[in-house]
Amino acid sequence: MDLGAFAPLWFMGMTEIKKYKLYINGQWEEAASGKTFGTINPYTGEVWAEIAEGDEEDVDRAVRAARKAFESPDWKRLTPTERGNLLRKLGDLVKDHAERLAQIETRDNGKLIREMLIQTRLIPQWCYYYAGWADKIMGEVIPLEKPNIFNYTLREPLGVVGAIVPWNSPLLLTFWKMAPALATGNTIVIKPSEHTSASLLELVPLIEQAGFPPGVVNVVTGYGETAGAALTRHHLVNKIAFTGGVETGKLVAKNAANHLARVSLELGGKSPNIVFPDANLDNAVNGIIAGIFAASGQTCIAGSRLFLHEKIHQEVLERLIDKASKIKMGDPSKMETEMGPIALKEQLDKIKKYVEIGLQEGAKLVYGGEQPTEPELRKGWFFKPTIFTGVQNHMRIAQEEIFGPVLSVLTFRDEEEVIRLANDTPYGLGAGIWTQDIQRAHRVAREIQAGTVWINTYRNISFASPFGGYKNSGYGRENGPEVLREYTQVKSVWVELSGTVPDPFVMR
Ligand code: NAD
Repeated sequence: MDLGAFAPLWFMGMTEIKKYKLYINGQWEEAASGKTFGTINPYTGEVWAEIAEGDEEDVDRAVRAARKAFESPDWKRLTPTERGNLLRKLGDLVKDHAERLAQIETRDNGKLIREMLIQTRLIPQWCYYYAGWADKIMGEVIPLEKPNIFNYTLREPLGVVGAIVPWNSPLLLTFWKMAPALATGNTIVIKPSEHTSASLLELVPLIEQAGFPPGVVNVVTGYGETAGAALTRHHLVNKIAFTGGVETGKLVAKNAANHLARVSLELGGKSPNIVFPDANLDNAVNGIIAGIFAASGQTCIAGSRLFLHEKIHQEVLERLIDKASKIKMGDPSKMETEMGPIALKEQLDKIKKYVEIGLQEGAKLVYGGEQPTEPELRKGWFFKPTIFTGVQNHMRIAQEEIFGPVLSVLTFRDEEEVIRLANDTPYGLGAGIWTQDIQRAHRVAREIQAGTVWINTYRNISFASPFGGYKNSGYGRENGPEVLREYTQVKSVWVELSGTVPDPFVMR
């Protein structure tokens, strides 16, 4: 086993710049162009590793390797149970290396170590869950009206999956794609975000160690417009599983359409979090904070539009401001830190721009809206938790995804009005409803146009429950049994039982 990518473990505390290569057909390779790019620690603003810059030629090599592996008996002839066992082994290995992987993602992305330790301990569950599914993906026997025919279906893999992952939860979102894709017998080429490739590259030796044959999993790092686009255009790619922004998602779908590759799109959100006057306000306030300030608001499911009933508007707002002012910002690698830096400089600039837009639109900034000035936070890309009130639903800060810790607060008078406002957005990813009235809770949940609705909770996810978007938040589902359809196709097999083939000129 080539331990090339393992080296940073031992260098974690050192200033040496680690170099990562592409992983194609079980080999670590330089990009064909020889180019590389730096990856930055958002807490220090410093480049800490150098990544190979893959391009069209590298993508072609990786896709061809994945296709060859798909057809190779080493993979194709594995029983579904054996495939499941490989995934289970990978889950065990991730468990053993959970802390190390968490540290790398914290370093590369600025995600809190306290959240990453939970994420990397949760990731093996995706392996175990889909390992369990591997030998339970069944066809059916169809009770036809033709007594001489035995008709059954086979559910088969698609071939090569191209997985394109964003920067905000690189490892977790990779597993959302990779675990079901492999469980169903596909092979995969993964293109991580150019901003956060390291944790996936550190995972590769574990994939090898688990025993996946060469070419089954390939990683091509590089930029979206080059490596990412090449993957979506490649005629040997049978399916693209994409997570990212809406505009990129549209490009991905267009490219994939040229060779009729299937596509699933997990895109952005502008999720409403709705608080009715009878809600348990302590819980609601925690849910609001979880929705918008956890991960510094850099989550697709951010509850970035808060709808407060007029009666409790003032009280909730006061509690929110109080809590926001006590959030501990700082070094993401410290367990006590509650908000880390923004992962990218471009993202920080985008957040600042939206604060200006909010002010120009006439919203009232009641907390935050700027970078903190504490010396400890100066080097990193920090932004304070930010709250706007007096927001109207047509404003850009209520309609557009900011992807940062910026909360737009709106008020409402009754259920009908809040349902109308909550649905009045191009997005439909998540929604929160806070009420003690069980009938209202379920009534509103039915009316909300979103792929996930949380009642008296927020930001829960599970490998066992489907996740995905309505409207511009995308199509296709990840997680749960639902995703298995995204990675399989159905074959209908007809068997004549009578031993004769009558009149050849008549369809039967
Ligand atoms: P992005 O769309 O800029 O990039 C996502 C990935 O696509 C990256 O790997 C990038 O390199 C690649 N890419 C960029 N241009 C491409 C192209 N032309 N062809 C192919 N690939 C290309 O998104 P981002 O900034 O990395 O991530 C943030 C976005 O992701 C937000 O909109 C967020 O809501 C969304 N997101 C959605 C979910 C979900 O499950 N719905 C989860 C996390 C993030």
